[in-house]
Amino acid sequence: MRTAFFLLLSVTFVLSNAQAPKFKTKYLNNISDSSLQQHVYILASDSLEGRGTATEGERKAAHYIVEQFKLNGLQPYNDTCFLQNIGLWSWQWHTFTLTDAHHTFETYQDFVYLSSAPIEPQITAKCVFIGNGSDSIINHIDLDGKIAFASIENFKSWYGIASKTKRKGAIAILMVHQSDSNAFNQVSEKFKAIHQQPSIGTQEPMFSSSMVKAFAVNQSLTEKLFNQPLDSLKHLTSHQQIKDLPTPKLTIGCQLKVELADANNVVGYLPGKGTNKAAVVISAHYDHIGERYNGICVGADDNASGTAAVIELAKAFAPLKGKLNKDLIFLCTSGEEKGLLGAFYFADHPQEHSFDIKANVNIDMIGRIDSTHKNNYIYTIGNNHYPEFDSLVHVANNMNVPLKIQYDYNKSQGFGNFLRLSDHYAFHRNNIPVLGFFSGLHNDYHTPDDTPDKIDYQLMEKRVKLIFTTTYLATQKTAFSSQTDE
Ligand SMILES: [Zn+2]
Repeated sequence: MRTAFFLLLSVTFVLSNAQAPKFKTKYLNNISDSSLQQHVYILASDSLEGRGTATEGERKAAHYIVEQFKLNGLQPYNDTCFLQNIGLWSWQWHTFTLTDAHHTFETYQDFVYLSSAPIEPQITAKCVFIGNGSDSIINHIDLDGKIAFASIENFKSWYGIASKTKRKGAIAILMVHQSDSNAFNQVSEKFKAIHQQPSIGTQEPMFSSSMVKAFAVNQSLTEKLFNQPLDSLKHLTSHQQIKDLPTPKLTIGCQLKVELADANNVVGYLPGKGTNKAAVVISAHYDHIGERYNGICVGADDNASGTAAVIELAKAFAPLKGKLNKDLIFLCTSGEEKGLLGAFYFADHPQEHSFDIKANVNIDMIGRIDSTHKNNYIYTIGNNHYPEFDSLVHVANNMNVPLKIQYDYNKSQGFGNFLRLSDHYAFHRNNIPVLGFFSGLHNDYHTPDDTPDKIDYQLMEKRVKLIFTTTYLATQKTAFSSQTDE
C-alpha cells in the first residue's frame, strides 16, 4: 500500500510539471450541464424506443450523433462516412403459407407457426390425423413424408409431440387444442409478438434439417380439413378409428427474410498535429435494450449519459483540431448490450481505418449517484492493469474540481468482472491501455425507470471535465506501457 502510494505521488509530480502547464482550462468551459442534459433528454426520449440494436430507434439515435459530430467539425473515421456497419445479421419472418385444395388459411387467425426453422421452398404433402399423438396410434401409422395432425390437451407440450412425429419421418405437424377454443388465440398472440421482433446474430443463421416444424391451428381449420366436428374427432383414440379419415393434401411454407443488419457504430475523429495516425479512442455505447417489463427502457444513465458525454467532449476538443499530439477518435458503439459487438467490431477491424490506436477512454453510465455516495465521486475501471492511465486520471483530477476516484469496480464482484462488462474490454483484449468511467449500479439499471430526470447533471458535468482532462493528457503522452494478465 505504502509503496504504491509513494510511486503514485512521484509519477503525479513528474506529469504535473511536464504536462499541466500546457493545458488551458478555457476548453473546459465548453462542457456544460445544460447541454449534457439536452443530449440525454433527446437520446432517452420515448420516440427512440429504447435504442435496441439494429432497430429504427437506434438508427434515429445514430442520426442525431452524426449531426452533432458534424456540427462539431469532426471528420468521418474513414474520411467518407460516420457510420460503420458492425456486420451483424438480422432475420425475421416474411410469409407463412398454409393451404389445401379449397382454402387459403390466414396466419395468426387460423394458424400460427411455432418453430424457428424456415420451410422454404414450400412443401405439399398429405396430412394424417394422429389423435392425441400417443405411441399406440403413431406406431401403427405411416408418417414418412407426411404432415401429422394432432389433437392435444395443452399447447405447452407441443415440442415433445412434434419431436416424436419428426422421428417417425413426419415433415411437419399441425396441432389443435381439443377443448379450449381460446387456447389458439393466446398462443397465436404470443407468437405474433415474437415474430415481429427481428433476431440478431453475428453469423448468418443456419437451420439444421433435423429441426421440427410445428403449427398451432384453430378449431375451424381442423373441421374444414377433416370434414367433421372437433368434438367427434377428439373421440377417435385408436388407429383403427382413424384410418378412414380423409388425408387432405396441404401446402405449407414459412419464409424468413435474412439480411445484413442495419446496426452501426458512429465514428468521427479530430485530427492531431502529427501524420503518424497515433490515436486515442473516446468511446460510449449508444444502444440499449428496447422494451422490457411492459415499458420502454429509455436508458438515460445506460448509456445516453455516456453518449451525451462523447458528443460534449467532441465540442470541447473541437478548438484543439490540429494541435494535439494524437488524433482523437469519437466512437459511439452499437450492440454493446448484445455483448460488446460494436466495440469488438471496431477493435478487431483495424483494416477499416488508418489509425494506430494507443489508448481507450470508455464511458458507460456516468449520470447517477449510487447508494454508497452523496456527491463528487467517479469509479474508474482498468487502473489495476494500466498504472500509467491511473496516474493520468489523478493528475487530471488535480486540475479540476477534485472527485473521489473510486476503485471498487476493479475488483471482481458478485455481478461480474467490470473490465469485461463494457466496451473498454474490446481494446484491453487487443493489449491497448484502457480506462473506464462509471458512476455505479442502481436499482433502475435495465428497467423502464432509468429516466433522464434521475440524472445529476451538475455532477455529470464535473465528471465529463475530468474525462476531458484525462483524455487530453492521454493524447499528449508519448507512450503507454501495458500490463495484460487478464
Ligand atoms: Zn451500458
